[in-house]
Amino acid sequence: MRISAIETYILQSPLERPFGWSQGWIDTRSTGLVKIITDEGVVGWGEGCDGAAATIVGRAFAPLLLGQDPTNRVGLWHKMFCQLYNSGTTSGIGGSALSAVDIALWDIAGQAAGLSVSDLLGGRIRDRVPVYATGLYYTDGEFPDRLLQEARTYVEMGFLGMKTKVGGLPLQKDVERVAALRDAIGPDVYLSVDANQAYNAATAIHLGERLADYDILWFEEPVNARDIDAYLQVKAALPMAIAGGEVLRMRYEFKDFLARRAFDIAQPDVAHVGGITEMRRVAEMANAFGVQVNPHVWASPIMIAATLHVAAVIPPCPPARDPQPFLQEPTMEFDRTPSPIREELCRRPFEQIGGYVTVPTGPGLGIEVDQRVVDRLAVARERYTE
Ligand code: CA
Repeated sequence: MRISAIETYILQSPLERPFGWSQGWIDTRSTGLVKIITDEGVVGWGEGCDGAAATIVGRAFAPLLLGQDPTNRVGLWHKMFCQLYNSGTTSGIGGSALSAVDIALWDIAGQAAGLSVSDLLGGRIRDRVPVYATGLYYTDGEFPDRLLQEARTYVEMGFLGMKTKVGGLPLQKDVERVAALRDAIGPDVYLSVDANQAYNAATAIHLGERLADYDILWFEEPVNARDIDAYLQVKAALPMAIAGGEVLRMRYEFKDFLARRAFDIAQPDVAHVGGITEMRRVAEMANAFGVQVNPHVWASPIMIAATLHVAAVIPPCPPARDPQPFLQEPTMEFDRTPSPIREELCRRPFEQIGGYVTVPTGPGLGIEVDQRVVDRLAVARERYTE
């Protein structure tokens, strides 16, 4: 089997009501997909090549990939990595482009073997992965009624935990918001907060001390994502777990955070860290350092499926008789904000039941991407052939 064509797509879907986070407002959902086509008719889908990353797939990777055996994931991963290595572009969008291709190659290899990606990875420690609801963003006129109703809805749906944003308001207003959320959901559901890098260490500590009264499970990206000393300062000062790593690429960028225990929870993103191949490497490294892995997920069913397959093989941290979601079991982010891409791209969107999502068992990623939806939402596309 040989790779005969590569297509990239940028998908966009405008939203009726924008929602905010500490770094901006989201009024359009978007993602970048790669479709790898083989001479035997097997087709694989990957995700992560939004914006300029799609150009890297076409210009830097396509010449390396066309004509090659797509089942050689490790070999092709290494070729793509080396193509970017000396220019330093394995970081940022280069890592995202590599991730997208890697996911598509695993999808193809699984289909060719008649095995799911997790089976190709060696089987599964768990057939379903615990998840938490990501939502509770800022919206105009939300507080308190609409925000608290959203939180109660997640409890009613059976979620065991949820995450809200901080860093978008004056400190006292964020504290009031989190306090009201804790009051609305009661004491039995995990609640975490995410600043998306909005604070310096002193401010993050000040906020974290105030939030400690509301039983916060983790404080995510409290400071600049690459400021390891700020992470260490925050982590030493606060009682809740500190989480980060969603923007880091490759095991090299995780290395010091793990070795210095700069966060308690690592959140690699399969569509950016370097795909399924590299996510597993990072997860195994984190496990050896006693760092919990709760994967970051923010886009289409392609990366949700890829994440589920990797999460299925991550060992508990550490082993226990009955490893618990959030405490030892890898627990996946499950975005519940408005996203037509997430809900429409596959014929059946992923659903959580009782706080878990089942790992797909069909060949490859185990999902069925609807090409008509891809075509409808695509605002840019390219095709590369030999
Ligand atoms: Ca986050």
